[in-house]
Amino acid sequence: MDNADVIVIGGGPAGCSAAIGLSRLGYNVVLCDQAKFPRDKVCGEFISPAADPILDRLGILSRIETLNPKRLKGVSISSYEGKEFSIDYPLQPRLAERPTSLSVSRYELDSLFVEEAKRAGVEVREQYKVTEFLFEDDCVIGARGWDGSKTSFSIHAPLVIDAGGRNALSLKKFHLKEEPVGGVKIAMAAHWEGAQIADDYCYMHVSDPGYTGISNVGRDRANVVLVVNRHSMNGENPDKFYLDTVMKNSQRYKILRNAKCLESVRTVESLAFSVKSVPCGGLLMVGDAMGFIDPFTGEGIYLSLRSSEIAVEVAVKALKNFNFSRDALNIYEVRRKKEFDKKFLLSRILQKLICNQFFCNQVVRALKGDRDLAETLVGVIGDLEPAETVVSSRFLLQLVAAYSKGVYMS
Ligand SMILES: Cc1cc2nc3c(=O)[nH]c(=O)nc-3n(C[C@H](O)[C@H](O)[C@H](O)COP(=O)(O)OP(=O)(O)OC[C@H]3O[C@@H](n4cnc5c(N)ncnc54)[C@H](O)[C@@H]3O)c2cc1C
Repeated sequence: MDNADVIVIGGGPAGCSAAIGLSRLGYNVVLCDQAKFPRDKVCGEFISPAADPILDRLGILSRIETLNPKRLKGVSISSYEGKEFSIDYPLQPRLAERPTSLSVSRYELDSLFVEEAKRAGVEVREQYKVTEFLFEDDCVIGARGWDGSKTSFSIHAPLVIDAGGRNALSLKKFHLKEEPVGGVKIAMAAHWEGAQIADDYCYMHVSDPGYTGISNVGRDRANVVLVVNRHSMNGENPDKFYLDTVMKNSQRYKILRNAKCLESVRTVESLAFSVKSVPCGGLLMVGDAMGFIDPFTGEGIYLSLRSSEIAVEVAVKALKNFNFSRDALNIYEVRRKKEFDKKFLLSRILQKLICNQFFCNQVVRALKGDRDLAETLVGVIGDLEPAETVVSSRFLLQLVAAYSKGVYMS
């Protein structure tokens, strides 16, 4: 049996950043991922601007810049065939220029993360699938599974960080996933060549039967993600349904009419979910494994990186005190909830809003009438400002006032 200070399950942004953070502090970290990198991932592929400082602290930002990613100025939104309305990220104190968000393919980004983890001294084991936790009393004390050649492995460590994403082992083993009631959502993504993207924004087109996010990821590649309720597909072939639905919207058609879809559509189901508390000691969950926010507001990578930063701080304390009890690790849960709960609530509110044509049109109209308000919302979506700023009766009143002003002026 091998030994480590910490086992990290999953080599996505959450797992790699936690592993890099702990390894740089001198801990012996083993990271297992069932995949062989580079591997692909269904994602909108733009990263909240607030992630830049975290990526910088990890020492990976300059390396991402060498991939020649696009830098997006903000979000451009079209509600039910309405004209697009572009909103820039708001200026931030002590910054001379407005922030921008990185837009880069996950194929390249995630593989760069794994490389960086190796450089930081993490023992990265690719094609290592973790299938079981090892227990002593009610504490996880390691993990076991199968490698690429079907040989079993066991690793002993007083702390396991599960960064296995939306299908993480902990979610299945402890039945922690709580899915919202209502229809199952499905996301479909593909890269296109030759898209006529007018400016550097993430283009969000809300219409029936769902919404799309289109962003330029560099090298004449646009990533086009469609999200719909699964029942709207009526059992149709995903590729045909995707192409037909994407092109049905006139704003999207303008962008994509001369473009070529380069690949078969990749799909992922069961989007938003929340997660119950970890039921034992010796285990922390980071990234999507701790709950998934619907991709419309596109900040999963930021939340993954940030949850890992908090987890690293809690892990270091546990490692120093050699106390991995559930109580000792619970502070992670408390901090994570305090920081993210309002953001999850905002995501749920926006989901409800965009499903309703009337309300979506009215809100977009109100935002058009008050650019400060619009920038505040995009600032929150980009994690530059706390979610409390907009999840408040004050913001709602400002929105109503902006809307009334718009109606009065028109
Ligand atoms: C349609 C869609 C669009 C999105 N758009 C955006 C966007 O534009 N911007 C944004 O910031 N976020 C977006 N997200 C969210 C973002 O993709 C996730 O938040 C992010 O990938 C989470 O990172 P992670 O490291 O937690 O998990 P992942 O990136 O999923 O990595 C998990 C890793 O764990 C490995 N693993 C899983 N189980 C095991 C196991 N048992 N043993 C070993 N390895 C295992 C997997 O192979 C995988 O490599 C989107 C998501 C979806 C579905």
